[in-house]
Amino acid sequence: MTIQSAIAKVEQNYAHQPEFIQAVKEVASTIEKVYADNPKFAEYKVFERLCEPDRVINFRVNWEDDKGEIQVNRGWRVQFSNAIGPYKGGLRFHPTVNEGVLKFLGFEQIFKNALTGLPMGGGKGGSDFDPKGKSEAEIRRFCYAFMRELHKNIGKDMDVPAGDIGVGGREVNYMFAMYKNLTREFEGVLTGKGVGHGGSLIRTEATGYGLVYFLDNMLKVNNETLVGKTVLVSGAGNVAQYAAEKALHLGGKVITFSDSKGTLVDKDGFTQEKINWIKNHKANNQSLADYVAQFGGEWLAGQRPWQFDADVALPCATQNEVSEEDAKALVKHGVKYVAEGANMPLTAEAIDVVREHGIAYAPGKAANAGGVAVSGLEMSQNSVRRYKSFEELDGQLQTIMKNIHDNSKVAGEKYGTTKGVVDYMTGANVAGFVQVANALVAYGYL
Ligand code: NDP
Repeated sequence: MTIQSAIAKVEQNYAHQPEFIQAVKEVASTIEKVYADNPKFAEYKVFERLCEPDRVINFRVNWEDDKGEIQVNRGWRVQFSNAIGPYKGGLRFHPTVNEGVLKFLGFEQIFKNALTGLPMGGGKGGSDFDPKGKSEAEIRRFCYAFMRELHKNIGKDMDVPAGDIGVGGREVNYMFAMYKNLTREFEGVLTGKGVGHGGSLIRTEATGYGLVYFLDNMLKVNNETLVGKTVLVSGAGNVAQYAAEKALHLGGKVITFSDSKGTLVDKDGFTQEKINWIKNHKANNQSLADYVAQFGGEWLAGQRPWQFDADVALPCATQNEVSEEDAKALVKHGVKYVAEGANMPLTAEAIDVVREHGIAYAPGKAANAGGVAVSGLEMSQNSVRRYKSFEELDGQLQTIMKNIHDNSKVAGEKYGTTKGVVDYMTGANVAGFVQVANALVAYGYL
């Protein structure tokens, strides 16, 4: 069984899951050489085994809305691989969620988690529930109902979910409360809990901050810093907010945010006061467009933020939000660094464009791994029942992001293909893959 025949099988079996096929092909395109260097990988059919999740759990979620009407949603947990630790990965609540989207996210998560150097396998879950327009009580009832089913399949040493799109600290707290109620166990079964009842400091900031720490390492390779650089951010949620904040701390000038309705531009740059306003406004489900009346700038309804001169682009919203055309716009506007805060925000064609044009490109599985890394640290803190300070955890986050950067760079230099720029895509795939593949070889065929 070769890598190519494994892909053919995925394409045949899962033609209706395009995001999953995209994620599998991206990894496959970068590991041919390391596969050839390690004949045992083919002998043990490592790639083929990794293309099929250990299991997909699918369930119904019944809940009652504010009118007393029964609502029915679909729920999933994809337990992809526990080769190097318990299944670990977030829960997404969004109407676009389906099995294929969760399989792409779970597949990516296997390699991302390996890159952190922490003992975590890969998983992902969620529901097609749409939190938008729901009352606080409806969200609480949905979270309780979701966990009433999910709790049968998770545990601190089995599977440890966290947040993702539509699932933040509030939702994790509701789900943890139901888990605790049903099992009578106070354990590290979910990460992203509130600080003071099992949560870790810096988890909220970790993905966005970690992304910018990774970017800072990319800049250092070229003897550059963020000072004075113009940065385009997409999204206005958890990852986008803290990426913008850390970029500001390191001297960058962030000029865009966006959401599902359009793009906000402020050519003067977002200050801490402006970012705080956006945090509060989005937390109350208000429109980003309201910013203009408060601070000026411009609201571009239905548009994406890739149309301005800049040095750095940080896509932090969702998958496939940067098309081939958008990537060409980034090239035209002088962008030299693209680091993914979201999971797979660039289409396969967009990745080709940025790599062909000498842009340093960091894939999400490396650049946004800070969130799951701090989740891993939350699991350890829960186990030993001792909590670390913000500063200590921030230091650990910086070290982990530097290690991911350096390991991806080294593997990229050995196995990569881009000329004159570090091949972070190949490097991250190879570094994450080899660790998991070695474990699978060691286990035989289980
Ligand atoms: P949030 O729910 O906090 O924010 C998501 C943001 O993306 C919102 O601004 C939302 O707009 C926007 N968005 C969602 N769907 C679309 C769309 N189809 N088109 C345009 N904009 C869209 O999620 P997070 O910030 O947590 O997650 C963002 C990305 O980062 C996801 O890809 C996620 O998987 C990834 N990620 C998150 C981690 C975390 O720790 N949270 C860890 C690693 C990766 P609106 O407000 O209008 O809905």
